[in-house]
Amino acid sequence: MAPPLILIADDNRDIREFLEQAVLTPAGYRVRSVGDGLSALTLARELLPDLVITDLQMPGLQGLDLVRRLRLDRPTLPVILMTSEGSEQVAIETLRAGAADYLAKPFEAEQLLAAVGRALAEGRRWRTLEEEQADARHSAATLERRLQEFEALSLIGRTVTAVLDLDTVLTTVVEAAVRLTGAEEGSLLLLDAKSGELYMRASKNFDEEFARTFRLHVQDSLAGQVVATGQPVVLDEQSPQKIKTSYLVHSLLYVPLRVRGKTIGVLGVDNRKAGRTLTTEDLAVMLAMADYAAIAIDNAQLYQASESERVKLETILTQTESGVIVLDPENRVMLINRAARLVYRVEGDVAGRSLAEVVEDPRLLALARVGGDAPRREELESPDGRVFSAQRTLIPGVGQAIVMHDITHLKDLDRIKSEFVTTVSHDLRSPLTAILGYVELIERAGSVNDQQREFIRRVRLSVEHMTHLVADLLDLGRIEAGLDASLEVTPISVLARYALDGLRSAAEMKQQKVETVLSDDLPMVRGDPYRLRQMIANLLENAIKYTPANGEIVVTAVVEGDQVILRVSDSGPGIPAADQPYIFDKFFRASNVPDDTGGTGLGLSIVKSIVDSHQGRIWVDSQLGRGTTFTVVLPRADA
Ligand code: ADP
Repeated sequence: MAPPLILIADDNRDIREFLEQAVLTPAGYRVRSVGDGLSALTLARELLPDLVITDLQMPGLQGLDLVRRLRLDRPTLPVILMTSEGSEQVAIETLRAGAADYLAKPFEAEQLLAAVGRALAEGRRWRTLEEEQADARHSAATLERRLQEFEALSLIGRTVTAVLDLDTVLTTVVEAAVRLTGAEEGSLLLLDAKSGELYMRASKNFDEEFARTFRLHVQDSLAGQVVATGQPVVLDEQSPQKIKTSYLVHSLLYVPLRVRGKTIGVLGVDNRKAGRTLTTEDLAVMLAMADYAAIAIDNAQLYQASESERVKLETILTQTESGVIVLDPENRVMLINRAARLVYRVEGDVAGRSLAEVVEDPRLLALARVGGDAPRREELESPDGRVFSAQRTLIPGVGQAIVMHDITHLKDLDRIKSEFVTTVSHDLRSPLTAILGYVELIERAGSVNDQQREFIRRVRLSVEHMTHLVADLLDLGRIEAGLDASLEVTPISVLARYALDGLRSAAEMKQQKVETVLSDDLPMVRGDPYRLRQMIANLLENAIKYTPANGEIVVTAVVEGDQVILRVSDSGPGIPAADQPYIFDKFFRASNVPDDTGGTGLGLSIVKSIVDSHQGRIWVDSQLGRGTTFTVVLPRADA
């Protein structure tokens, strides 16, 4: 370190030389001296000495004024004042003016050196203090800027997550970029994939018209270079690369906007006037903000895509001819489309309300209430008399959907067909009885050979089958027409036992085990005892018929709330899932029924018609190779 530099100002040349040559230089100081105050001031500004020693009385600028001016220039510069007028008044004024020390002439060399030492030490202390203050000011400024960056980023972060409107988010980002970098203007350019041009999606301090019509080709532009390379660009007037944008700027900073590994645009700030230099710190902030903007754009694109899918789906659901009701796991309405609204005359916004508040149809409510994962089908009648086939499907993670198809015309057709079949069946009955009678008579009329007897047996079997069919058809016709309305209060367990008694021998022939769980205190049901027994018998007959020898059949009847629940289960072959929706249809036989198994395909149609005419419900649970359970639910007579 160079020795301290001392500037001496005194109009007395002898004193100057004495101080310089005899005292200060030998003591190791560097010394410069001048003969008047003004020269001292100029030289002090030029040389920046560590200490000034000045005389009080000088031509031009007086010693005290020099002290004041020097202190104004550099408050930490120590000044020693020498005077031959050793009055107290002068001493006070000297110190008031800010001098470090005061020496009354004549003084000893040691006195001066001691004062110089003190003043220099004090000057150093002041300078250290000043440096520390400057450091502190700088740290405070850095901290302030960090705080601003943090606040801006957290604001943008909140905006990105809370605001769905992309314009708001992107404008917030550009405004923060301009504020934090201290730049004059900022813009967010996005690439138009079709035209290969960049357009201004958000801006700050740009003319509105300019921003709106701004278009920039990717090739041959700085922003385009950022898009092409995915690398940021920081340029100012000193940069070797020429600044080339569509308008003139002095400095700029462009960072890429990257979404899923692809650069889709540029976030930029610039200064048209000389403005503040853009630094690497600004770059870091800009990169963070570009990330936020990219997330917001990505979010918005995802949201738009899912929103347009949602709208599309909603339109399909709303416009579809079939009624659709979507329910959450608590059976609250999530969606009810136009067709379903028309059926049940639902008006207004019913989303979130319980289905029971919205529609009254007990059958629909019951369909929505059935548990289990398996799809269920139910025929529903609307208040205006139309008939719907309603299918309930469980939707994992959502709840369930009920889709209703209008089958009124099919029902009408079915009715006409049934009436026709009933008429024909009725007309067939007499000729069949006649055939059977005459077949009986053949053998009595004369001797027949063995072959003829076999033929007669086959004719009889076929006629019996036809008679069975006709009887079933007539039964079905009668039940569907509601002809037998003889309603009585009947004990279901007794009917089940009767039905079982009639079939026990058939089960025994196949060595099947039939188990019953029928308590005597079951509540009564209201209905036609003959038909109810027929219904149970048909189910049992099927169970015995389809279950192989040594199989197991279980009949149970229990009460649950207002309902009596009857179940007929077997350990038979089961029904293929694809066939299950159709097994109650007339003449339907499942694909796994062996050819030689007798049957008309009408048994379950009769069962269903009987259950329906008793305001009950029936469904099947079946697993191939495991067995089948038919469940019948009937209302209690006292309910
Ligand atoms: P079928 O006269 O053919 O028995 P149903 O109407 O009684 O006619 O039954 C319709 C079809 O349902 C049957 O052909 C059979 O495929 C199936 N099915 C009914 N009950 C059972 C059962 N317990 N086990 C297996 N399949 C059955």
